[in-house]
Amino acid sequence: MNWRVPLADLHYDLNEEHAVLDVLWSRWLTMGMVTQEFETEFAKLVGVKHAFAVTNATVALHLAYRALGIGPGDEVIAPALTFVATTNAALYTGAEVRFADILGAHDLNLAPAAIEKQITPRTCAIAVVHYGGYPCPMDAIMELAARYKLAVVEDAAHAPGATLNGKALGAWGDVGCFSFFSNKNLSTGEGGMLVTNRDDVAERVRLMRSHGMTTLTWDRHQGHAYTYDVVELGYNYRMDELRSALGLAQLRKLRADNLCRQAITETYWQRLQDTALELPFRDAPAQSAHHLFPVLLPPGANRQRFMDCLRAEGVQTSIHYPPIHQFTYYRKRYPDVALPQTEAVAARQVTLPLFPMMSDAMIDLVVAATRRALKEIAPSA
Ligand SMILES: *Cc1c(COP(=O)(O)O)cnc(C)c1O
Repeated sequence: MNWRVPLADLHYDLNEEHAVLDVLWSRWLTMGMVTQEFETEFAKLVGVKHAFAVTNATVALHLAYRALGIGPGDEVIAPALTFVATTNAALYTGAEVRFADILGAHDLNLAPAAIEKQITPRTCAIAVVHYGGYPCPMDAIMELAARYKLAVVEDAAHAPGATLNGKALGAWGDVGCFSFFSNKNLSTGEGGMLVTNRDDVAERVRLMRSHGMTTLTWDRHQGHAYTYDVVELGYNYRMDELRSALGLAQLRKLRADNLCRQAITETYWQRLQDTALELPFRDAPAQSAHHLFPVLLPPGANRQRFMDCLRAEGVQTSIHYPPIHQFTYYRKRYPDVALPQTEAVAARQVTLPLFPMMSDAMIDLVVAATRRALKEIAPSA
């Protein structure tokens, strides 16, 4: 499709091109100085002690769960209104997932009371997702985790640069996981980052990212070591220097890009507030990363028709998300899950285009096309 307004678009220019070429000509292509600098700079952004660049956020989540010691017989509480990787990564460890419901149409994040209902003697961790970059109620969730002695994993895939009460999202829990997939706020194609303030977790992640080996190719190249031992069952979840260079170039743009996303979001809110749409997160606490612009159609509205109308005008839309517990694999594995709020919201949800370089003309087009599509699906029409 040749969209007039795509759902998302990269903010790439000569900075990214030069960054990649510099690495190419340096002749050192994986985990070296550039990756270290990316990790250091990202740790500064989030205000944490440790940051580990990894292949993608899915493996960051897998490392997070494993480094916290989660495995067979354990349970992880998670939302269903998220990308499937949040819970897939927990299942990789042999643990089971218990789905908790969200707050409602005004806030699509997990409800602390719903989390508490899912706690059993087997519960080890709560996985929270900051939907669209909007903060979960972390004060209440951390209090709950402390009371029941549970770990907290933040899936902050949507939330680089976001804060709540002055503290970065990703820095609240035991571990934070970020995604640099090509449609995220900071893009390296594929890529991710795991952050933590816990030294014990950091040590296990350092080992498991690279086969459980005690030294790296880079250390041996530097002459720091000749050999290695393997002390954990690890993986190859490393990031390469090319992607780290892209990550550094993108990191320098993140603050300004997130402000553009915020301005566009506020424009959308203002210009759509008199429509039949419900607009979640309008009262959300600062500071979102504004990764997505979700809207909710009136209950019972024909979503397919609404999306088709926008498509006919060249405007790409999406759904975030088909709830995980309704996918075939998960329905078979967990047939009895019922999440009234999640199911009600998910059936009405549509995501409109949002990316930093959106022009005023594009915003005008999305707003006008949305209004026309709403007329098309109105019951009286
Ligand atoms: C994109 C995304 C992931 C997975 O990220 P990858 O880097 O593609 O593995 C996980 N969770 C959420 C909420 C996401 O949006």
